[in-house]
Amino acid sequence: MVLKTEKNHKTANLKLVKQSNLTLVFNFINANQPVSRASIAHATGLSPTTVSSLVDELILENMVEETGMGKLSGSGRKPVLLEVKAHGGCVAAVEMKEKSIELEVFDLAGESKAFKARDINDYSDIGNIIADEVSDITAGFGRLLGICVGVPGVIDRKTRRVMSTLIPISRDNDFFKVLCNRFPEVKIKLGNESSYCAYIEKTESKKEIHSLVYIDINVGIGAGIILEDRIFTGAFGNAGEFGHVSVDINGKVCKCGNRGCLEIMAGTPAICDAAGVDSISKVDMTDEKTVNELSDICRYIASGINNIINMINPEAVVIGGEITKLGNVFLEKIRCELDHIRLKPDMENFSLEFSDVKGNPVTRGGGRYLLDRIFEDGDFITE
Ligand SMILES: [Zn+2]
Repeated sequence: MVLKTEKNHKTANLKLVKQSNLTLVFNFINANQPVSRASIAHATGLSPTTVSSLVDELILENMVEETGMGKLSGSGRKPVLLEVKAHGGCVAAVEMKEKSIELEVFDLAGESKAFKARDINDYSDIGNIIADEVSDITAGFGRLLGICVGVPGVIDRKTRRVMSTLIPISRDNDFFKVLCNRFPEVKIKLGNESSYCAYIEKTESKKEIHSLVYIDINVGIGAGIILEDRIFTGAFGNAGEFGHVSVDINGKVCKCGNRGCLEIMAGTPAICDAAGVDSISKVDMTDEKTVNELSDICRYIASGINNIINMINPEAVVIGGEITKLGNVFLEKIRCELDHIRLKPDMENFSLEFSDVKGNPVTRGGGRYLLDRIFEDGDFITE
């Protein structure tokens, strides 16, 4: 028995090594194409034999192709150049919203190929609706390799069901299982929408970064966390519930039962209240009095961000959501408050910005995340 377990363990480990090597080679080709086998080996540290066999497998899978000859360096034959076969397959990313779903298809090079939005009135059969729409929108783009669904809510790690106060979906709704049954050969991932937003912010960041926290400030407040290039959701899937971090233990009572949660102190309703308007687009940031009325809110947000910095110490914090409509004046006020309260080690390269990612960040981030991990097993996990 012991021997058998050890053998299984060894096989599992070898499989894992192969998956991560395939990921390494595929992503390297994608980022540096056209590229020769020799340069892949040189850059990744894998042996030329290993690279050759991995590339053969990628060619067989229709994911990479030989596209030409490189320049001769020194003596010998000209190297064959490799590129990702963009149309060799695709992934679909779906965002589940309050009254609609949005779908986007990406080819293997990460290029967006199609986008669609569809109104949803009834979520009871959402699994089949998503499956039908995915089949429809991905037709003609090659083999479907993965689907990811971003949801505005907490995902139960055990049952893969969604608890959301925003979308009218029952806690018994097992749409994830429906998707798995409809696409048995496809990798399917389910994640919180803020996690995918965080991932696209990291990917599109002007500097190379590996840790980032994305804060989404609307009526509700949530966060997505990237640690060492991976989405982090915690042991039970609740990490990123930033809206329920208290910034005032004597503050207003929140619907969660706690006092002074950031969501109730600095969500868009609190901002509109303070500014005396009924919608965030009506807040006039050129009016000095209004700007002053928002001082406390800026302090609450800065205090929340300071907690993140002290706990996680990310390279960047990006703020997204409706609050970005308040523009640079508001952002500068938050930065200023943060500078007053944060510890002062060398954080020269830390950045606090408003999001400026174009398109739908949930589908874009989900699609990218899926492509970056297309060989990884654990198909049915929410990270
Ligand atoms: Zn709360």
